[in-house]
Amino acid sequence: MLTKKTALITGSTSGIGLGIATELAAQNANIILNGFGDQSIIDQTIKQLQELTNGKVIYCNANMLNVSEIEQMVTIAHQQFGNIDILVNNAGIQHVQSIEEFPVSKWDDIIAINLSSAFHTIRLCLPKMRQDGWGRIINVASVHGLVASVNKSAYVAAKHGLVGLTKEVALETATETITCNAICPGFTLTPLIQQQIDARIKQLGTEQAAIDLLLSEKQPSKTFATVNQLGQLAVFLCSNSAAQMTGISLPMDGGWTAQ
Ligand code: NAD
Repeated sequence: MLTKKTALITGSTSGIGLGIATELAAQNANIILNGFGDQSIIDQTIKQLQELTNGKVIYCNANMLNVSEIEQMVTIAHQQFGNIDILVNNAGIQHVQSIEEFPVSKWDDIIAINLSSAFHTIRLCLPKMRQDGWGRIINVASVHGLVASVNKSAYVAAKHGLVGLTKEVALETATETITCNAICPGFTLTPLIQQQIDARIKQLGTEQAAIDLLLSEKQPSKTFATVNQLGQLAVFLCSNSAAQMTGISLPMDGGWTAQ
């Protein structure tokens, strides 16, 4: 159980971040939810998470594009809970286009949200983790932190950067009771992937045909990973059993990176 531990999960109003928040709440952690969305749905999510944990659930709408909002979010979390014991850098966006047509503003946003925000949260959370003598940093990278696919230049660059940052932070904290690891999901059915399915529906007619094509292109299991499976992997990385795992990037990808 993670009773009295506090977890900040960026981008957790939806998809994988919400799956991780749900599994950490089920372990009794305090939860700081972050991300965008309809306020009534966010209120409902807070209520559902609150039913899972004896800890407290709060929400912060900080935009991971904005350094001062990230700083404010960490300050608020420290004021409310004293420390952030578990930091999950999950917020991420995608854009699919060839490199010569790739909008410069999309490149900048993807690097800022998918990579630089993790640098900022880590630099802001580490001093208190060190004071407390315990910490778990989990970066949600991707198979695209390990291998590339066409038309995803910014995403592949950011996720490879995040895998590198994971190794570097693991070395800076190696002699402390702090670990830093990356999770590398393959295709997982979330709103982010739905965009790529919708683009294929236009060519193929049906949603099932689009899903089959998407999975058969890359994921040998031909099955999506689930957000709860990824959440349970995060719980394992927070456990004492994983205390000597640091600096690694763990794929959950149905065999994608085995090819
Ligand atoms: P999603 O779109 O369902 O969720 C993204 C979350 O990030 C949402 O809560 C959204 O509100 C939040 N977010 C977006 N921009 C933000 C910003 N500027 N500031 C704060 N929050 C912001 O996507 P997902 O599929 O759950 O993706 C989560 C992470 O997993 C991403 O880093 C993504 O790259 C990674 N990932 C996803 C897959 C997949 O197949 N779904 C595969 C590999 C990696």
